[in-house]
Amino acid sequence: MALETTLILFKPDAVAKNIVGTVLSRFEAQGFKIRGMKMLFLSDEILADHYSHIADKPFFPSVREFMQETPVIALALEGDDVIGRVRDLLGPTDSKAAAAGTIRGDFGDKEGDAKMRNVCHASDSPEAAAEEIKRFFKDGEVF
Ligand code: ADP
Repeated sequence: MALETTLILFKPDAVAKNIVGTVLSRFEAQGFKIRGMKMLFLSDEILADHYSHIADKPFFPSVREFMQETPVIALALEGDDVIGRVRDLLGPTDSKAAAAGTIRGDFGDKEGDAKMRNVCHASDSPEAAAEEIKRFFKDGEVF
C-alpha cells in the first residue's frame, strides 16, 4: 500500500449537471482526503500540455472545445493507493462501456459523446500525478 496524491478534474459535463458534490462524496466515502481544490478555466496552452498524448488525434479539437465549455474544478486527493482506486471508481474512458456503480457508468453521457463527456479526469500513474498536480496547482495551493 502506498500513500499517494492524485489529480482529478471535474470536467464541464460534471459542472453543468450539478454532480460535482455527488461525485466528490464518493471519493470522501473511501476515506480519501482533499489536499487542494480550485475552479479554473483551461487555456489552449494548458490543454495542449495536459492532453499532449492525444494532441495529434482527430478528436482532439472537440476535446478542447468540450473542456472549455465551462471552467473545471481541479482536486488534489490523497489516500492509500488513491491513483488506481480512483481510476477503478471512475470506470473506463468510454462511459457507454462503464458498469453501473462506477462514476462514468452512473453519470457519463451514454450517447454521442460517451468517450469524451466522461465526468472526471484522473491521473493514471504516480509520475503523471506529480506532473499534473504541478500543472494545475501553484506552490502553497496543495496542503
Ligand atoms: P482517460 O481520460 O480515461 O485517461 P485518455 O487519456 O485516453 O483517457 O483520453 C483523454 C480524454 O480524451 C478522455 O477522457 C476523453 O475525454 C477524450 N477521448 C479519449 N478518446 C476519445 C475518443 N475516441 N473520442 C472522443 N474523445 C476521446
